[in-house]
Amino acid sequence: MPAPNIETIVSLSKRRGFVFPASDIYGGLGSSWDYGQLGVELANNIKKSWWNWLVYERDDIEGLDSSIIQNRNVWKYSGHETTFSDPLVDCRDCNSRLREDKLERNAEGKPICSNCGSTNLTESRPFNLMFRTTIGAVSSDDDPMALAYLRPETAQGIFINFKNVLDTSRRKLPFGIAQIGKAFRNEVTPGNFIFRTREFEQMEMEYFCRPEDAAALHQEWIDGFQTWLGTLGILPENLSLYEQQAHELAHYAERTVDIMYRFFPEREDEEKQWDELMGIANRKDFDLKAHSKKPEDAEGKRVNPDSTEDLSYFDPQTNERFYPYVIEPAIGVNRTLLAVMMDAYTEKTNEKGEVRVILKLKPELAPIKVAVLPLAKNKPEITEMARKIKRGLQPAMRAVYDDTGGIGKLYARQDEIGTPF
Ligand code: ATP
Repeated sequence: MPAPNIETIVSLSKRRGFVFPASDIYGGLGSSWDYGQLGVELANNIKKSWWNWLVYERDDIEGLDSSIIQNRNVWKYSGHETTFSDPLVDCRDCNSRLREDKLERNAEGKPICSNCGSTNLTESRPFNLMFRTTIGAVSSDDDPMALAYLRPETAQGIFINFKNVLDTSRRKLPFGIAQIGKAFRNEVTPGNFIFRTREFEQMEMEYFCRPEDAAALHQEWIDGFQTWLGTLGILPENLSLYEQQAHELAHYAERTVDIMYRFFPEREDEEKQWDELMGIANRKDFDLKAHSKKPEDAEGKRVNPDSTEDLSYFDPQTNERFYPYVIEPAIGVNRTLLAVMMDAYTEKTNEKGEVRVILKLKPELAPIKVAVLPLAKNKPEITEMARKIKRGLQPAMRAVYDDTGGIGKLYARQDEIGTPF
């Protein structure tokens, strides 16, 4: 039985050291979270699984780690400066600030405040989600020459390095570039624990291919990721696919399929139990073209006068030059960690009627692999041997020694955090 709701995981996380509210001693900060001694291990293991599956176990994917702060033109030509916004409304009755596209509507189609139920809302206005900062020692905070952004996605760092990787790795299509890193979005309504935060971590892969192969490869990645999520222990009955409708598609996307997870099993309305775990988009050749100096409009003017490179691809076999299409599977580390914990969560009642929590994590994901627990803590010959075993294991894996309780209690503690051995 998976966790009945996210709250169960919030409390386990805080009790055992997976995830803590950030800046807690100063009253917290909106919806920021810190990963504790077990959370950091679990997150690292999820990232390792993703990286191994894509970069090590396949022959056609390279890794990358690009900067969080880039030249502002990256976000100009990617379209983020003009279109990366959410529709914002304020409730005139309770002053809540809300995302209009997430609100329920009344019979006349008017959006309803999710806080107080009023329909007395302001007109919706676009709110850009990118965090702004300034570079260098500047005289004023709004100096446009110094303006920069924290990246709202890792993907653009891949596109602008396409030629670097292509030239230095001598790759041929199809091939991919994978990256894991922090992304920042000034979300209007963050919440639901680590589901939606303003600072989060993404695992994104851009798979470059010939345009005519894109549709079939897109489907392959949709199928492939469901399999990978299964290897993390996420239950098939808690995953579903959502095909984005024409009006929901990003301007550059030909087709996008979201893999949904049942993050809210407690909700009565089955449709509302699901939310996005990851998105898999066919971005066509939009990004590589947008960042290239080459393409010209009908009047012969360069579409991107700031770029110094052409990001097209030359196929030596067909002697053609073209802009590859891109399939992008994008998934959040944090949402994956939440889904993994929810599906691993199990409660068991023992003979005494006590409820015990068992976290049935896959051994590869478990924060601690081995716990060495001596049966008697007063006998040096036993405790010394146990410590020695622990020290022997620790270069190869995370191992712990614990003698601070009776053996039953020690076992129960490890069961609760998913230690396999
Ligand atoms: P949503 O519709 O939930 O806002 P999105 O479609 O904007 O998400 P993408 O831009 O496709 O998200 O980002 C890829 C993935 O990054 C998401 O599927 C999700 O796992 C993760 N992600 C996006 N925004 C956040 C956030 N604010 N907090 C945590 N994870 C996020």
